[in-house]
Amino acid sequence: MNKDIEKIILTEDELLGIAKRLGSRITTDFAGKNLLIVGILKGSVYFLSDLTRHIDTECRIDFIQASSYGGDTVSSGEIKIIKDIHDDLTGFDVLLVEDILDTGNTLKYIYDMLSKRNPKSISIATLLDKPSRREADIKADYYGVNVPDAFVVGYGLDYNQFYRNLPYIGILKEEIYKK
Ligand code: 5GP
Repeated sequence: MNKDIEKIILTEDELLGIAKRLGSRITTDFAGKNLLIVGILKGSVYFLSDLTRHIDTECRIDFIQASSYGGDTVSSGEIKIIKDIHDDLTGFDVLLVEDILDTGNTLKYIYDMLSKRNPKSISIATLLDKPSRREADIKADYYGVNVPDAFVVGYGLDYNQFYRNLPYIGILKEEIYKK
């Protein structure tokens, strides 16, 4: 285990289990639809890559990048779009894929922005959910697990751009970000 990790909360096997479980539900729910999967960069890439390999129905994949925490562990609340997708989403059933739903402000911003582009539907899949921290009125249609109110890293999730490559998800030691 990485020395900066306090405790592992999801192992590689458990993460793969979540991707398989949600992938199978999404396969059923979106069969015959015009599925456009939109990953939110950068944190969702590992989850999206495992999830989509367990989605057995036709789909397109694209990415949106919103501004990040900028090296802090709490969201600034100010969201900026750095990379966008098509302006016209007419006829698409959009599935937003996120790593973690925390205050919900980022997803709410993206959800509202895409809603104005005439999609047929928008759904949300998140690997992790911290419902106790929610500020925005937004809910995931598919979620892996609830996590405690601690700062977690690994499997795509970073602190200051590091730790994304850990194959598991763990709680980062407080001494690392409270220096
Ligand atoms: P929200 O706008 O819901 O507060 O924040 C969502 C984003 O904040 C996530 O996509 C993620 O990048 C980041 N975030 C929230 N909680 C955590 C956490 O515990 N660990 C990490 N690494 N990022 C987090």
